[in-house]
Amino acid sequence: MSVNFVKCNSVLITGTSRGLGLQMVKHLVGISERPKKIIATARNPATAQELQQIAKSHAEVHIVPLDVVNDASIEAAVQKVSSIVGPAGLNCLINNAGIAIMSDLNSETRDGMMKTFQCNTISPLFITKAFLPLLRAAAAVCDGGAMSVNRAAVINMSSVLGSLQLNWGEGAATKLHGYRVSKAGLNMVTRSLAVDLQPDGILCTVVHPGWVQTDMGGKQAPLTPEESISSLLAVVSAE
Ligand code: NDP
Repeated sequence: MSVNFVKCNSVLITGTSRGLGLQMVKHLVGISERPKKIIATARNPATAQELQQIAKSHAEVHIVPLDVVNDASIEAAVQKVSSIVGPAGLNCLINNAGIAIMSDLNSETRDGMMKTFQCNTISPLFITKAFLPLLRAAAAVCDGGAMSVNRAAVINMSSVLGSLQLNWGEGAATKLHGYRVSKAGLNMVTRSLAVDLQPDGILCTVVHPGWVQTDMGGKQAPLTPEESISSLLAVVSAE
């Protein structure tokens, strides 16, 4: 299966300063079947050196500031993105930005759980709501087309750590309560959005990238960002 976004006009990715978000941008600019517009958002673009370097040599990459937990930042990003994509709208929104606060039952705090829930669960819902007019515009352009990233889609980065079903037997673990709860909640946010947006022809789904060597995943993770993202983007872009 290969990555093919050639029929997709525009993709927006949150949290592209490093890790898997940055790898998505790197992968997309490296293939000929790339989207026409790659909107790479970061909460502090000035410090995202590698992303800045990529944008310098790839005119299709547009860097837009976006702090996913800040409503004013979301509103400003919508205005900017609207002027980038125009009447064609936004085809694919990838809610990738996330945090994980290392914790166990002893060290977990209310504040830590709330911060994690804000970023990982609530923000994808409110970002999707904010970008909905642009997603609807894209879906309407190919009215009647199959639901896919080539029409309009919301892809949320979840994790197997949010699965109730998998937290049994050998997979059972007790750490990271806040992170696990946030991703379980994200799964339901996504399922609810899928029901809400199905009449508009907007696909909503979650993906798990595997356990990957990033700041969050750590060096002991089995997958490299390249391995994870090449497979993830192939799945997401499959028709
Ligand atoms: P990293 O910690 O390496 O990177 C996280 C990214 O999210 C950074 O770009 C960070 O920006 C951004 N971010 C965090 N908070 C905000 C915010 N408020 N606004 C905007 N951007 C923000 O994580 P990964 O790349 O590993 O993870 C990406 C996604 O994949 C997450 O949703 C994670 O839960 C999920 N995932 C990762 C796995 C793994 O093994 N790595 C496994 C399963 C799921 P900044 O540089 O400004 O901090």
